[in-house]
Amino acid sequence: MATTTPAPSTKTSLPRSEAAATPELGRARVVVIGGGTAGISVAARLARAGVENIAIIEPSEKHYYQPLWTLVGAGIVSADVSERDEAAYIPEGVRWIKDFAEEIDPVAQTVHVRGGGRIGYDFLVVAPGIQLDWDAVPGLREALKTESVSSNYDFRLAPKTWRLIESFRGGGTALFTHPTGPIKCAGAPQKIAYLACDHWRKTGVLERSSVILGSGQKAIFGVAEYRAVLEQVVARYGIQTKFDRNLVEVHPDRKEAVFAVVGAPAGTRETIRYDMMHAVPPQSAPDFIKRSPIAHKDGPNKGWAKADKHTMQNPEYPNIFALGDASELPTSRTGAAIRKEAPVLVENLLAVMNDKEPTAKYDGYASCPLVTSYDSMLLAEFDYTGKPTPSIPVIDTMKERYDMYLLKRYGLPWMYWNLMLRGLS
Ligand SMILES: Cc1cc2nc3c(=O)[nH]c(=O)nc-3n(C[C@H](O)[C@H](O)[C@H](O)COP(=O)(O)OP(=O)(O)OC[C@H]3O[C@@H](n4cnc5c(N)ncnc54)[C@H](O)[C@@H]3O)c2cc1C
Repeated sequence: MATTTPAPSTKTSLPRSEAAATPELGRARVVVIGGGTAGISVAARLARAGVENIAIIEPSEKHYYQPLWTLVGAGIVSADVSERDEAAYIPEGVRWIKDFAEEIDPVAQTVHVRGGGRIGYDFLVVAPGIQLDWDAVPGLREALKTESVSSNYDFRLAPKTWRLIESFRGGGTALFTHPTGPIKCAGAPQKIAYLACDHWRKTGVLERSSVILGSGQKAIFGVAEYRAVLEQVVARYGIQTKFDRNLVEVHPDRKEAVFAVVGAPAGTRETIRYDMMHAVPPQSAPDFIKRSPIAHKDGPNKGWAKADKHTMQNPEYPNIFALGDASELPTSRTGAAIRKEAPVLVENLLAVMNDKEPTAKYDGYASCPLVTSYDSMLLAEFDYTGKPTPSIPVIDTMKERYDMYLLKRYGLPWMYWNLMLRGLS
């Protein structure tokens, strides 16, 4: 294992860095950056394992179950169902530092926070989620202020998506976008298109409308077996797919969306006029991670927090682990993936705390509950091999099913709040 100088020891009593004075915010055995899906799952498991002196750095008073935002955008649930007080999910005995992490110093073993001060750590878990780069698309922010454009990627906007879908009378174009590059829940940009189409099918709007999916991806889904099912869904609704189209500009005054044509000569553009648009912003690692010493400085994983794809340990600093959307793990950025990442990370972290090698391995499992109508869902499950890995016995989850829709609507939210965030599943 490669180390830098001075090498952080993995011993139970870590030597303090000579250079570092006592940090203003004290020292914790484990500091967790981010109290979202990944951070709370890991902290809850560590607390259950008896680890003391854990601190979570998390600025938000609220915790969100983001997978519900698709259903909010489709008018199935209200937004407040997805929001709870963060305080209720900080595990008992864990210290909550209500601030933004701003700088990680892996040599001094400290994290600086925005409000001033540093906290020292023996072990660090990096889980601040993904950054939504709204401003990377000129005109998008302004467009979101108009009554024609929305996005389920923002808690405050998801209810507006439903208003747009409900008030769309057809006779024009409904445009759904999906950017190039990694995003959280790569299924979400198409799920809302299917739900909108199903609603418009029932209200008679679909037959007199043009529905376009402008996507920077190469196909509707990466895994061939699920792609085949989704291609039928797309055909059923008559959605026109335009792949290799990356949204680069919006002109809200003219209701025009400009796409770069991926793979075509530089500067090749296609402009689509919309009457309503659901836009998904480009996404990247949080800026403070990008500029930190624990991020890749170049290559395909540039900006993401380094983590071995199986053990989630930083390759240079053995006392640092990363998981979830901010990490480089080459899997689908979903809560479902984190559900499998968290127990492996915790097992490995506990091993390292006890001077052992991290031997537990995450296999890349992720799942994507692809809601295809108001009463059907396709549960896509896969791992690093890119092959389907259905995990529910007896029933055939390789096709759209009503019981899977019920799982998405009722089962998964219950499991999230009551089991996953409590370190129980
Ligand atoms: C519309 C939509 C639909 C989705 N659908 C699904 C689905 O069906 N199934 C599924 O499994 N997943 C789905 N997801 C994805 C899932 O919600 C995320 O993958 C998951 O929440 C990522 O967990 P995380 O802990 O990495 O990040 P988050 O849960 O986003 O948490 C990151 C936390 O870090 C905090 N933070 C940010 N910056 C800092 C900082 N500087 N310092 C400290 N803390 C910071 C944030 O406040 C936040 O609380 C969906 C997401 C969206 C937006």
